[in-house]
Amino acid sequence: MIPNRIQTCLDQITKDMATRADRGVVADYIPELAQIDPHQFAISVVTAEGQTYCAGDCQVGFSAQSITKVFTLAIALGRSGDQLWQRVGREPSGTAFNSIVQLENENGRPRNPFMNAGAIVTTDEVLAGREPKQALAEIVGFVQAAAGDNDIHINESVARSEQAHGHRNFALAHFLADHSNLKNAPEMTLGTYFHQCAIELTTQQLARAGRFLMGAKHGPRLVAKPRVRRLNAMMMTCGHYDGSGEFAFRVGLPAKSGVGGGILAIVPGVASIAVWSPGLDHNGNSKLGTEALERLAHEMDWSVF
Ligand code: GLU
Repeated sequence: MIPNRIQTCLDQITKDMATRADRGVVADYIPELAQIDPHQFAISVVTAEGQTYCAGDCQVGFSAQSITKVFTLAIALGRSGDQLWQRVGREPSGTAFNSIVQLENENGRPRNPFMNAGAIVTTDEVLAGREPKQALAEIVGFVQAAAGDNDIHINESVARSEQAHGHRNFALAHFLADHSNLKNAPEMTLGTYFHQCAIELTTQQLARAGRFLMGAKHGPRLVAKPRVRRLNAMMMTCGHYDGSGEFAFRVGLPAKSGVGGGILAIVPGVASIAVWSPGLDHNGNSKLGTEALERLAHEMDWSVF
């Protein structure tokens, strides 16, 4: 009964989303992403029992971008434990994902690990003491293990495209270095950061990769339960940048967005959901992806509240 309801619901949402004229605006500050067709839409759900449901373009790979920050945070906490919080906070920022002003006011300690400055710090922590290649292999390997799928890769063109135009991220990294909050050379940390953001996967792969965050019976146990709860707490409070409050109000689930138009949302103990629609709203979060999650959560009665 429930399984049929999930598939019916995904099919209906996908059909409705195809008719929408206002789809938001694709991220154009990374030239490779500016070329993506905004008419694509995909949604996938993996339940705690291990069933997978998909609708739309769920076999098309897209750029995960900031969604990878959840996986990198999990790895950084695994490496350094609570010491990591000396370098980065865990409060919502109330500012844009790439804001510089707050970093200056707060002496080079980013508000949280999901805004760019904070993710540059967690990437730096994963990189410390080794080569970028090794750090990237660990990050990609973690996502592959989480998804149970080795066919997940970094899109080199997207990484190079961001590297060539990432002036703001360079500014953030140098600012962090100026406050002695980088362990590696800014160029090394940023090269690793741009590459991990350029991980490409489908909604089906992403929903599977999110299983460890719902405490699934099936799938790999990559992170201990108390840490899973905290990762979810961070997603709930900081996962949508300056739109995190609005997302919690509308959808009511812990989630992380990326400027590639993807969102990973977790129904603790029940399901992992991945949605992708490349057009973004004014906060840099997927416009139709958010609408789709709002509908799905409402129709399935999924909420943490
Ligand atoms: N790579 C992007 C950046 O650093 C990630 C931003 C996002 O997905 O929100 O600008």
